[in-house]
Amino acid sequence: MIHSVAFIGLGAMGYRMAAHLPKHFETVFVWNRNFSKAEQHAAEYGTLAVSLQDAVQADIIFSCLPTSQDVEALISGLELKAGSIWIDCTSGVPESAKNLAEALQTQQVNFLDAPVSGQTIGAENATLTVMVGGDAEAFEKALPALQAIGKLIKHVGNSGAGFAVKAVNNMLLAVNLCSVAEGFTTLKAHGVNLGEALDCINASSGKSGVTETVLPQRVLNRSFPLTFALPLLAKDTGIALDLVRDAKLSAPVIALTQSLIQAASDLSPAESDFSSAVKLYESWSKITLE
Ligand code: NDP
Repeated sequence: MIHSVAFIGLGAMGYRMAAHLPKHFETVFVWNRNFSKAEQHAAEYGTLAVSLQDAVQADIIFSCLPTSQDVEALISGLELKAGSIWIDCTSGVPESAKNLAEALQTQQVNFLDAPVSGQTIGAENATLTVMVGGDAEAFEKALPALQAIGKLIKHVGNSGAGFAVKAVNNMLLAVNLCSVAEGFTTLKAHGVNLGEALDCINASSGKSGVTETVLPQRVLNRSFPLTFALPLLAKDTGIALDLVRDAKLSAPVIALTQSLIQAASDLSPAESDFSSAVKLYESWSKITLE
């Protein structure tokens, strides 16, 4: 039975995800590094802004930080409550999940890697896809908390499996982003009407999430709204490439895509949305996708 839940990391995703918890649980603690965000969350949603050490006394602790390194640094030195479950929604590193799961076992705490997909709109509507790695029994116990933030919730394997699925998912997004940028700059160079071309492709076999939402809603209208930062996508493609290397496989499309996304991230302001990776192609081709 879950009596108390905590959410740590009230960023673009976490702030919205944590907002659903008071609808399902009586006691919901929130903590954020910049603490004024926690206080704002408490005022807006009826959560309780508390110290980090108090937050981690909850039965279920969610975290959603930029990287696994941030999560490791945060957890080290914390005294947790035996029997609690830590659900990390960061898009993290599989090896780190294995290490954290093992380390937290010494405090009788289960660690689940539970990254999410569905962007900020999915966080706002509690329709996220959640891919969970870790102990199956802990997953069953944590399910009511996961159901408060997500729609499709799957246990995909042992510790690290959730992070691995998320990294590959975001690599597929990146591959599509790069190929759509190349394809559409080519079409424009040939004088094709991009709006009409997009309608055709979205009713054909080449469609993807990038052609259905990213291109029309972020690129062609030149809005590039910052909801998922490009450096975070570069981090995810890096994790995917590391997985390939760990398995001693060859994956040239993944390797090339990682280089392209990393270059786009390095050449862009840090506050760029992931969709602005297409600007790399625009600068090479001197063609604007609009
Ligand atoms: P944001 O940058 O918006 O938020 C990051 C949060 O982590 C902030 O609350 C920040 O606190 C906190 N934080 C950063 N560094 C530390 C640290 N060292 N110690 C403690 N707290 C820290 O990121 P997002 O919410 O966009 O992303 C979070 C995770 O979710 C990432 O792994 C990302 O890849 C993933 N993700 C993002 C999606 C999106 O659409 N944005 C979609 C799916 C997954 P402070 O306010 O003090 O800076």
